[in-house]
Amino acid sequence: MPATNPISASCDVVVIGGGPAGSTVSTLIAQQGPRVQLFERERFPRFHIGESLIPETYWVLKRLGMLEKMKQSRFVKKFSVQFVNAKGKESAPFYFWDNKPHECSQTWQVVRSEFDQMMLENAREHGVAAFEGVRVRDVLFEGPRAVGVKVQEPGGAVREVRARVVIDASGQTGMLMNRLNLRVWDPLLDKGAIWTYWQGAYRDNGRDEGATMVLQTADKRGWWWYIPLHDDRVSVGVVRPFDDLFKNRGSHEATYTEEVEACPAVAKRVAPAKRITGYFATKDYSYRSTQVAGEGWVLVGDAFGFLDPLYSSGVLLALRSGQMAADAVVAGLEKNDVSAAQLGAWGPAFGRGVDRMRRLVCEYYDGFSFGQFVKSFPALRNTVTDLLIGDLFEDKVDTVWGPMESLYPSGKRSPMRWDEGQTRPPEAKANELFLPDGARP
Ligand SMILES: Cc1cc2nc3c(=O)[nH]c(=O)nc-3n(C[C@H](O)[C@H](O)[C@H](O)COP(=O)(O)OP(=O)(O)OC[C@H]3O[C@@H](n4cnc5c(N)ncnc54)[C@H](O)[C@@H]3O)c2cc1C
Repeated sequence: MPATNPISASCDVVVIGGGPAGSTVSTLIAQQGPRVQLFERERFPRFHIGESLIPETYWVLKRLGMLEKMKQSRFVKKFSVQFVNAKGKESAPFYFWDNKPHECSQTWQVVRSEFDQMMLENAREHGVAAFEGVRVRDVLFEGPRAVGVKVQEPGGAVREVRARVVIDASGQTGMLMNRLNLRVWDPLLDKGAIWTYWQGAYRDNGRDEGATMVLQTADKRGWWWYIPLHDDRVSVGVVRPFDDLFKNRGSHEATYTEEVEACPAVAKRVAPAKRITGYFATKDYSYRSTQVAGEGWVLVGDAFGFLDPLYSSGVLLALRSGQMAADAVVAGLEKNDVSAAQLGAWGPAFGRGVDRMRRLVCEYYDGFSFGQFVKSFPALRNTVTDLLIGDLFEDKVDTVWGPMESLYPSGKRSPMRWDEGQTRPPEAKANELFLPDGARP
């Protein structure tokens, strides 16, 4: 149920955006007492890409009080991820349970319009005043300090809301990142994606039914996601360097069809299926903000950074950053310290976790093969699975990098630091999503 109370002119915390990051950070703050108002410009349910969860989301979902709701939902259960190489050869599935025999090793493939709505409803149940159809027009500053926001209500009226802390969870829009010019584009991960939804496409059985498949394109420059959803739908998308997909190519439909034809492993899986939406496309460049927080403001989720979706880490990073930020904000409010140092204390540890996932992404684009790695270093199978499940925030996983590098052809270097060599102009503001007409899955 959308909030029925009027917007208050002041509160402890304002959150911009009601995606997974915004609903997480607001719920975890409200659970601990402070008064939170969240403003979402859309009305839910609304379409969003990002359907495959990874197991480490479990712990945040547990704190949010979402686990029972997830267990009772219709979302497809996901137990593993499987890779198919450029020649169509399938790796053995990486079963999360084999690595961690705990219920956290089962996760879900979610329809985001439903998942995001559940998360926002859950935030309301925990005391968050969440308003839909209310766009944040601007963040108010007094000197360097954020002191509130200017919002536009559904009827068009504009008003100010004061808050001790402003949290930007506006996703790839990156409201504060743009305003303060903080976005740094990743020099290597400059991809694009085209996808659509199928009904009746191939599905495995039993515990493999909900597996995410990652299928390499024949020229090894890109990959496909194959994500089984409920109601017999499958989300199938191709990711490649942006120019490969959008420069000198035809319509999204023509490009997608050509890409399917060039990938027999995908073609045979969708052959019996009916396409049930139009084609979606997005510029998919990875980026990060140079700061996670400032005086009175914090960034979470895609509003802080976006990483190539190869390993389905986006929602986990939204939830984890939301959780880490919530604890820093609550501690700061208690001691009346909303400095950048206090609100962003979690930033370095979070950044190291993202670096690990990014490195795994870059290794894949550089030709890394999970199958070959596990064959060469069987003792590291569990550690590499730790990375795949999103266990990114502990040093123990760093034991994989040396052995991975030893498999490189001689003379090759390991992937660069994330911000090294960045050349993209700051005026390239945000990734864009092109929604087809009438293509709401
Ligand atoms: C092609 C592709 C595939 C992906 N696949 C996966 C996947 O399989 N698994 C996975 O985990 N992740 C995936 N992701 C990433 C995932 O979509 C994001 O990381 C995730 O949605 C981030 O959540 P968020 O809450 O930060 O942002 P969002 O989910 O984008 O939420 C931001 C919200 O803010 C609102 N908003 C924006 N501006 C304003 C404003 N001015 N006022 C009020 N509200 C505002 C928006 O309407 C939106 O609802 C994928 C991404 C792409 C591009």
